[in-house]
Amino acid sequence: MKKVYFTVGPSQIYPTIPKHISNALKEDILSLNHRGQEFKNLYKDTARKLKVLLNIPKDYQILFTSCGLEGMERTIQGVVEKTSFHIISGYFGKAWARYAAELGKNVLSFDLNTDNYNIDKVEIPQKAELICVTQNDTSTGIWIPPIDIEKIKKKYPEKLIAIDVVSSLPHVDINYKYVDITFFSVQKGFGLPAGLGVIILNPKALEKTEQLVKKNISIGSYHGLKNLSEKAKDFQTPETPNVLNIYLLNKVAGDILKTGIDKIRKETDEKSRLIYDFFENHNRYYPVVSSKKLRSPTTIVIYAKEESEKLRKRLADKGYIVGAGYGENKLTQIRIANFPSHNLRDLKKLLKTI
Ligand SMILES: *Cc1c(COP(=O)(O)O)cnc(C)c1O
Repeated sequence: MKKVYFTVGPSQIYPTIPKHISNALKEDILSLNHRGQEFKNLYKDTARKLKVLLNIPKDYQILFTSCGLEGMERTIQGVVEKTSFHIISGYFGKAWARYAAELGKNVLSFDLNTDNYNIDKVEIPQKAELICVTQNDTSTGIWIPPIDIEKIKKKYPEKLIAIDVVSSLPHVDINYKYVDITFFSVQKGFGLPAGLGVIILNPKALEKTEQLVKKNISIGSYHGLKNLSEKAKDFQTPETPNVLNIYLLNKVAGDILKTGIDKIRKETDEKSRLIYDFFENHNRYYPVVSSKKLRSPTTIVIYAKEESEKLRKRLADKGYIVGAGYGENKLTQIRIANFPSHNLRDLKKLLKTI
């Protein structure tokens, strides 16, 4: 039976992945020397495509890591001397704050109240050096509108701001001018196999890293932002990287560019409307996030009474794999991913089955 993975990550692979993997084998990508010119060309071209696709300013750097969580750690280590500030809307935001504490930083946080949401209420103390925002928290399905991230940066222009867009790219349209560090991994919205992360770094964040290094503060070693950035100038990585995944990211970014990112964003919004409308009108299940403004279009969390497991099993029997609720909500909620790899036809069938 053909299965469709509506799980939030890893998820349904992008439809062109089998073709690209087969070409990678033919092109000997799996044996490619990561210090050679061919790899440098691949790095350079992947960075170029990501910048065009996401509208990232020229002077920002694209750095390759191994996963989304690594983005959290590298960011804290790389630009925080003493104090970070975290806007928390779910478990991924909490994890980021916990990692900062484990790295010995002084952690301040603000718990987002979804019933009484107003980003202007977030007050950030003078001593906070970095503002950490989980733009789309996959555990709760809470989405912080990109315009509100801009607002925070405009209110605190001297502070650095870092955003986790692991489960909202390539859909989320960020104005990178207002963001210093962005990170994501590829097994969610890009529909790739897991094992590759990306950090998007601006010159201001790099400057802060340099300051920390000058002060003899540890920013990590081979994957510290300074090493990553220096190698990236020559289109290399410090370690032997996941070349296959960089190749696949290059190809899928190219496919999305060909289809057109605007079209894909529009389709995602349409599918998202369909899902939320369906559950608003369902007699037993409903969207967990009540504020429409804060509902994630890409990772949708639904309250399913105590029927989560039963429902997931019934769907799996028909080939539709949906996620369980996160953590303590495992048995009461389901999570449905709405990524570019999910087509409207499969989605309609999924909803019909529910
Ligand atoms: C999945 C996820 C992560 C972790 O990414 P990994 O690639 O598994 O390390 C971080 N943040 C958010 C919002 C996520 O959804």
